[in-house]
Amino acid sequence: MQIVSTPKISDAEWEIMRVIWTNEPVTSRTITEVLSEKMDWKAATIKTLIGRLVEKGFVSTEANGNRFLYSALISEEESMRERTGSVLQHVCSTKVGATLAELISQSVLSKEDIKLLERAVSEKAMDAVETVQCHCLHGQCDCHANHEEEL
Ligand SMILES: [Zn+2]
Repeated sequence: MQIVSTPKISDAEWEIMRVIWTNEPVTSRTITEVLSEKMDWKAATIKTLIGRLVEKGFVSTEANGNRFLYSALISEEESMRERTGSVLQHVCSTKVGATLAELISQSVLSKEDIKLLERAVSEKAMDAVETVQCHCLHGQCDCHANHEEEL
């Protein structure tokens, strides 16, 4: 079996990416300034994280005098889609609905957000399936155990 590993953005690297997306092209000094309040990170830690992002091919670096300017090589929208998608990939497909409901109840939402969600839900209602099929491995969720009991 061949395992192809595509590089992933860690939670810490994600914090850096958000600053780059918002301010690019940006110096490591600006990134440090933005994050020093929120995270208790030293400049060296931030430099290491930026270096990893460059290595993984998510960030480009360009010399500008004696400093470096960093820009994103991946879009925020696409990365966000991958990230939210990967959260749901780790859940049994029969529990995706409940997980989404949980995410919604944990969130602070505006009336505008609610409208957006209502629209998304009513679009889904048009081609909703009767029962969602589980594709988990035996021992990774309770679906199979329940089915076997039924049989
Ligand atoms: Zn399952």
